[in-house]
Amino acid sequence: MDTKKSIFTTIGLIMVVMFLAMIINITISLRDFGIDSAKTKAQLVAQSVKNGLTAHMVNGMMENRNFYITQTKNLDHIDDLWIVRSDTVEQQYGKGRELIHDEIDKKVLKSGNSIEDINENFLGHSTYRITIPYKAEVTKDINCISCHESNEGDILGVISMVISVDDLKLTSTKIIGYTSAISFILILIILWFIRHLIIPYLSIFESIQDVMKKANTGDYSGRINDITSGQAKNVAHWINEHMNKLQTSLVSMEDKIDIFLTAHKSEDVKDPIIDVENTVTRLADIYKFKKTIENDEHIEDVYKRISVVLEHKYNICDFNFIEADTTNKSTQIVYVNKTILCDPLSGGCRADRTNTLIDSCQFIDVCDKFNSDKYYICIPHSISNDLDFIISIVCDTVEEHERIRSLLPFIKDYIDTAKPEIVSKKLMQILERSAQTDPLTGLYNRKFLENFIDNTLYNGALKNTPCGVMMVDIDFFKLINDNYGHDIGDIAIKTIANTLIDVVSKEDIVIRFGGEEFIVVVSDCTEEQLIKTAEEIRIAFSQQKIQAGAETFSKTVSIGVSLFPNKNKDFWKYVKQSDIALYEAKQTGRNKVIKYEKGME
Ligand code: GH3
Ligand code: MG
Ligand code: MG
Repeated sequence: MDTKKSIFTTIGLIMVVMFLAMIINITISLRDFGIDSAKTKAQLVAQSVKNGLTAHMVNGMMENRNFYITQTKNLDHIDDLWIVRSDTVEQQYGKGRELIHDEIDKKVLKSGNSIEDINENFLGHSTYRITIPYKAEVTKDINCISCHESNEGDILGVISMVISVDDLKLTSTKIIGYTSAISFILILIILWFIRHLIIPYLSIFESIQDVMKKANTGDYSGRINDITSGQAKNVAHWINEHMNKLQTSLVSMEDKIDIFLTAHKSEDVKDPIIDVENTVTRLADIYKFKKTIENDEHIEDVYKRISVVLEHKYNICDFNFIEADTTNKSTQIVYVNKTILCDPLSGGCRADRTNTLIDSCQFIDVCDKFNSDKYYICIPHSISNDLDFIISIVCDTVEEHERIRSLLPFIKDYIDTAKPEIVSKKLMQILERSAQTDPLTGLYNRKFLENFIDNTLYNGALKNTPCGVMMVDIDFFKLINDNYGHDIGDIAIKTIANTLIDVVSKEDIVIRFGGEEFIVVVSDCTEEQLIKTAEEIRIAFSQQKIQAGAETFSKTVSIGVSLFPNKNKDFWKYVKQSDIALYEAKQTGRNKVIKYEKGME
C-alpha cells in the first residue's frame, strides 16, 4: 500500500473508532441519565402516593382513595399505578380491590425491600417499574398501629408504579442523531482538508521517495511530475531543478574526465556521484604525482616514482622498466624492482617491436626473452618518436595476473602523465651525456672526468679506494697527420680509443683528455695490476693495423702511471705525476710504460 493510502486509511479508521466510541459513550451516558431520572421521578411519585394514602388514612377518608390513585395514575408518563394490601390488613379489614399483580408485588410484600425493573425495548415502548413497601410507622404525627393490628415496621402493603421512559429515549435518540450528523460533517471536513491540503504533501513525499530511490541506485533521471498546485508545486520545482543541475553536471564532468583519465567508468560503481568522487581522488593522486616528478632532477627519479605507485598503490612487486630507442634499435633495462625478469638486451623487446601488450596468459611462452614459469605481462608505452617505455611485470598466479590486467588503464594514466617529464628528462640526459662525451671516439671527456672525480672517486662508489691513473699518448702522432692527413690521424685516435675500451674492465673509466692523449682511471687496483694493464694497452695498440688508403701502418703509445691512494681528494696531483711519468717515457725512448717515481720532476 502506498503512503498516501495508508495515511488516509489510518486517519479514516481513527476517526471511525473515535466516532463510534463517542456515540457509545453518549448512548450509555444518556441511558444512565434516563434511568436515573426515571428512577428519581418514580420514587418521588411513589413516595408521594404513599404520603397521600397516609393522609387519607389519618383523615379517615380511605373510602375516597381510588379517586386519588386514579388522578395520580392519569399524570403524564405514568403508565400504571396500583396498591396492594398485605395479609395483615386483609385479615383486619377484609379483601379489598388492592390485589397482588405479579411476583414483584409478592417479593416486596415478603421482603419489605423496594424492587426496580427496567423494561427496555429499542424500537417499542420502554418502561421503568418500581414497587415500594408501605410499612407501619409510629411518629408524633402518625401512628399506624393505632388503627392497624400490627406492629411498627410491619408491611401493610406495597405501592407499584410503571412509568414510561419513551420521552427520554426520544431525547437521547435525537442527541445521538445530532451528534452523529455533526460528527459525520466534521469527518467529511477533515477528509476534505486532508485531501486538499495534506494529500499534495503526501504525493510529493511519495514522488521524492521514488526519485531518491532511483538516485540512490545511480539513476538521476527521476523527476516529480504530478504536483500541480500549492506550495508542494514549488518544492517539486526546486527538487526537479536540483536534479536537472546534478544530472547535467555529472554528464559534463564525466565528459571532461574522459579527457584526463583512461577507462574511468568502473563496472562495479553504478552511482555517477561515487564514480566522480573516485575519479577526483584519482585525478588528485595523479596531480600530486605530476607535481612531484616535475621537481625531480633525473629520469631515474621519475622511474622510481612510477615504481612506488606500482608497488604501494597497486601492490605490484615484481617488475622492470625497459627503455627502447627506436632510432638506434637499442634496448636497455632502466629499472629493476626485484629481479631482472627477461633479457631484452640482445634481439630487442617483443612488446616494443610489436607495439602490443604481451601477455603470457593469452599465449603460452609468447616471448622467448622470458625464461621463467611465472606469468608475465609487458605493456609498451610510446613516449616519443624515438623512445618507447615498456613495463614488464611478472606474477605467480592467474588471479594476480587478472588483477594486474584490470589495473592497466590506471597505470596507463600515470605513464601518460609522466610522458612529458620522461621526454624532457631523457633529453636532458642525452644533452648531459653529449656534453660529457667526445664526439670522435664516443669516450668520456674532461667534463665527465670532473664529475666522476667528485661523484664517484671522492664521494661515491670508489670513495677511499686506491685507483690507478694512466696518461696515454700516441708516439709521434704529428707524423700521421703530416704523412696521411687529418682523417687518418682521426682513425688512429679512434683505434687507440677502442683499444683502451677493449683492454680495461667495465668499471674503469677512459677519458679523451686532449688531442691524442687519454687518461684511464683503473678502479680498485694495486701498482702491479696498474702496470700490467698499461702494458696490455701498449702491446695491444702496437699490434693494431691502421688503414691509410692502400697501405697499413702501426703506431705505439707511451704511458705514464701513478697510483692514487684516494685519501685526500687530490686526484689531480696524481694526474700530474702520470704526466711526469709519461714525459719520462717519451724522453727515454717512447713505446714504454713508466711508473712515476719521486725525483722525476
Ligand atoms: P710525441 O711522441 O712527443 O707525443 O709527439 P707527437 O707528435 O705525438 O706530439 P704531440 O703529442 O704534441 O702531438 C699532438 C698533435 O695532435 C698536435 C695536433 O695537431 C694533433 N691533433 C690534436 N687533436 C687532433 C685530432 O682530433 N685529430 C687529428 N688528426 N690530429 C689532432
Ligand atoms: Mg703524442
Ligand atoms: Mg700529445
